[in-house]
Amino acid sequence: MSDERAELLAHAGTCALCEEYAAERMTVAMVQGNSGPGWSRYACLPCARLLVASAFAPQWLREDVARLDKIEAATR
Ligand SMILES: [Zn+2]
Repeated sequence: MSDERAELLAHAGTCALCEEYAAERMTVAMVQGNSGPGWSRYACLPCARLLVASAFAPQWLREDVARLDKIEAATR
C-alpha cells in the first residue's frame, strides 16, 4: 500500500452504510456535534464510490475518491 493511499483510508471497522465489516474504509461524512467535537462516519470503499456517484456527495469526498482511483490505476 502506498503512503498516499494509506493517508486516504481510515482504520478497519464497520461500514456506516452497509454495516458490513471492512478492512479499508474512508471518511464519508463529518458530523457536527451540538456540543463538543463532531465525529466522522466511515464507509467501505464500494459504498464510498456509490456515494460519490450520487448527488449528495460533498466535493472533498469526490476529490478523495478520485485520488484513490488514480493511485489504484497507477499501481494496478
Ligand atoms: Zn459499505
